[in-house]
Amino acid sequence: MKHKMKLYSEPYLKVLEGSKTIEMRLNDEKRKLIHCGDIIEFENIETQEKLKCVVLKIVAYPSFKELYEACDKLSIGYSEKETANYEDMLSYYSKEDIQAFGVLAIHICKIECVTPKLLVDYGICPTCFNKENHNCLYGDISDKLIYLDEKIECFFAGNPRAPGHTIISTVKHYKDMLEAPVDVVLYVYAFAHKMMNIIKEIYQCESVYLCTMCDGPMNHFHIQLIPRYAKEERGSKNFVKPRNNYVYDKEKLLQFQSLLKEKN
Ligand SMILES: [Zn+2]
Repeated sequence: MKHKMKLYSEPYLKVLEGSKTIEMRLNDEKRKLIHCGDIIEFENIETQEKLKCVVLKIVAYPSFKELYEACDKLSIGYSEKETANYEDMLSYYSKEDIQAFGVLAIHICKIECVTPKLLVDYGICPTCFNKENHNCLYGDISDKLIYLDEKIECFFAGNPRAPGHTIISTVKHYKDMLEAPVDVVLYVYAFAHKMMNIIKEIYQCESVYLCTMCDGPMNHFHIQLIPRYAKEERGSKNFVKPRNNYVYDKEKLLQFQSLLKEKN
């Protein structure tokens, strides 16, 4: 979800340069709509410039006093030489409103500084985030996309461990196979079975290895299909072969799509 907020030049520039990482607002009805992973577009009231930030964490406090005690002054927009006084916020909000609603520390990061690791650290799924935000993390995958329906998508790995390394991912978020309903798991594996045969046929590899990880709080259920070629040794080392750059091969992509149609 996207939100809009206005800022004066001084705080705007501090967000822009990266020192201010917490935006403070009343915890009113409008702000209750903000969630982790959402985007806030800040507009500089004085110049109309705009910048986009990702919400990483939201912490509620009874008033600015507690918020100021908990947060570093630079992170809430003060400079080293300034004294942070929570009563400064009375120039934006009335005592009555602060008392009635409470306040929020909205932890933010400029969208261009966001990495998959940072999102995972804050419990935000990078895969879902990427989808909701025009592939801003992983880039456009139209040159890798083999198949898409309402349940799954299948695409070439962007950093393959072998030519033909393919990923099948659920459209909906499940953190791993344990969390996915059994009908979805069966659907994914039936599709994987079909894909493994197609990979073998197209790439003439000796075998295709399948793995999925249930390793963290904020994964996105996907399985990997990694070919092993005749010249390569058998065994689990195939799961961790060095990664390479994906090379777009239009002919292979079309071959996959036509074989998938045939096998349907
Ligand atoms: Zn997800």
